[in-house]
Amino acid sequence: MIRIPSNNRVLAERKILLIDLDGTLTNTADIALKPMKDGQKQTDLSRIKTFEGAREFISEATGLGFQCIIVSDSHPKYVNTIVKEYFSDVSALSLADKPNTLKTLDFLRLQNIEISDSDCYVLGDSWLDIELGRGLGVPTVLTAFYEATNLEIRDGIGDYVKNIKSGSTYYAESYDEILNILRNPLQNLLCLEAGCRSAVSYLARKPRRDEFLLGSLTAHRILGRQSQGECDKYHTTEKYFEFNRADRSKELLYTLRDSVITYVDRILEQRFFLWDIFTYVPDKQTTQPANKMGELFDLIVELVGQRTPSLNCLSIFEWNEGVDSSTRRQPSAGDRRRFVRSNLILQEGVNVNGKNVIIIDDQYTTGATADALTENLRARGAKNILFIALFHLITPVNSSKLCPKCVVNGLNKQLQVKINRQTGSKFYSCVLPRYGGDGCGYTENIG
Ligand SMILES: [Zn+2]
Repeated sequence: MIRIPSNNRVLAERKILLIDLDGTLTNTADIALKPMKDGQKQTDLSRIKTFEGAREFISEATGLGFQCIIVSDSHPKYVNTIVKEYFSDVSALSLADKPNTLKTLDFLRLQNIEISDSDCYVLGDSWLDIELGRGLGVPTVLTAFYEATNLEIRDGIGDYVKNIKSGSTYYAESYDEILNILRNPLQNLLCLEAGCRSAVSYLARKPRRDEFLLGSLTAHRILGRQSQGECDKYHTTEKYFEFNRADRSKELLYTLRDSVITYVDRILEQRFFLWDIFTYVPDKQTTQPANKMGELFDLIVELVGQRTPSLNCLSIFEWNEGVDSSTRRQPSAGDRRRFVRSNLILQEGVNVNGKNVIIIDDQYTTGATADALTENLRARGAKNILFIALFHLITPVNSSKLCPKCVVNGLNKQLQVKINRQTGSKFYSCVLPRYGGDGCGYTENIG
């Protein structure tokens, strides 16, 4: 008989769900409830409805081993009244000051919870929840349980693009979808993020809603996230930087190839449309690594082209000769769109009239490139257009670490995690104004 010494017992990892209240558990995104949320008016429970299945969701998640904690920016008078009535066995943090992580971290520490030793998720319906989760370094689920009736600027309620750009790990339209994510985290990642972990997923994110205009579809899809600043462990920023380096590995190209094929095969199988042309956004002659997208595209079509002979896989765009700037250097989305529209043109003799076109590109920032190419294609009679980007540049998020140099001067500036483009190594940065921050330029290597 083997005796296991009592001091050798394995501590089970704690499982934590940090759940937003308004718009996630209760159908209270309505701006008219603000005085109650702010504690200025007494909370009238007759005006507070939970979403159908909210309480069952809490008990199912608890059954999966998760400790549920409500994290709300609303006033304790409001939060505690609701929690007592509907979610009595859940603890709650009010006035959480999202997306700032400090109050949440303090609250967790009081309950002896260390985020780094936990299997933790943040769930919520706005960018504030997602950036809180990314600041904590844990996966996030952006929930979409209601249709916003009015746009609310600070919380970004009803602002689909802003919420998506905050870079959640997952997106869910029902509690069942969240439970599925909690049970199968890898299979619910975005296609490319799953592919980097040897898992298979067919999921892509819509950086904006699909557009049907005069019977023609324009759809944008994202297969992975590229983050400046903090994120969860699943983002693909290192892959993005490696893809852009001359010494990128073949292995990386194969991983990207397989993920794109997984996604494109699914699109072709579904047959919502019969796609005619499969193409890519080429790089300028001067770009390093040379033929950056072309090399990947060739690897992809070697396989896709064999399986779907009716799909015409070819390069149809070309840069004007002598273009000496780059899309990235254009200051605004409008400038980028104009730059691409006038410099990246359809090749002579390519016929896209009445055709359905799939385009792949490496990075998606505001969609300016996709818009410009769509305009060019539409002007030549193309019909449905699907634009697929490998990496979505998501909003930068601060870490909970403060800049030691600024602290000396009495300023609390949060550092951002950055990645060196050349070496791929990570460092903290007190981001200078010229890079979009308000910091002093202090940097510190990580690890
Ligand atoms: Zn600083």
